[in-house]
Amino acid sequence: MAGDDKAATPGVSVIREGSTEKSTGAAANFTGTAQVEGRFQREAPARIGGGTITFAPGAHTAWHTHPLGQTLIVMRGHGFVQQWGQPAERFGPGDIVWIGPGIKHWHGAGPDEAMTHVALAESSNGQSVTWGELVSDVQYADAVGHQPR
Ligand code: MN
Repeated sequence: MAGDDKAATPGVSVIREGSTEKSTGAAANFTGTAQVEGRFQREAPARIGGGTITFAPGAHTAWHTHPLGQTLIVMRGHGFVQQWGQPAERFGPGDIVWIGPGIKHWHGAGPDEAMTHVALAESSNGQSVTWGELVSDVQYADAVGHQPR
């Protein structure tokens, strides 16, 4: 019975706050400073993984896709998400953002305010994200420039 295999797969575990490494988003994938903490990845048959990302004012991801989509749960501050070819959408604390499988997009802080979101994505063949090119300064300014602050 699966329930007998306690040593191999603990039934319940708690990752304590502050016990995981903080890291900074790679310059190839993020513009500005993005701090990642509480990163986790569950083992098969589970697929879920994620972390909490804090974007400095103006910081944002590069264009990218997620094979099985992504959910963002906004904790603090206001930010933006933009699908390729669509206007950006502003979000704030308590909002829950869904990005569909394979949809090219970016997300991050607005120009004047830091923003923290939890990011959750399921992996497919061990991959939960495919990175593309950086969002250009013109693309970012166009996306956030016409939004209410
Ligand atoms: Mn994403």
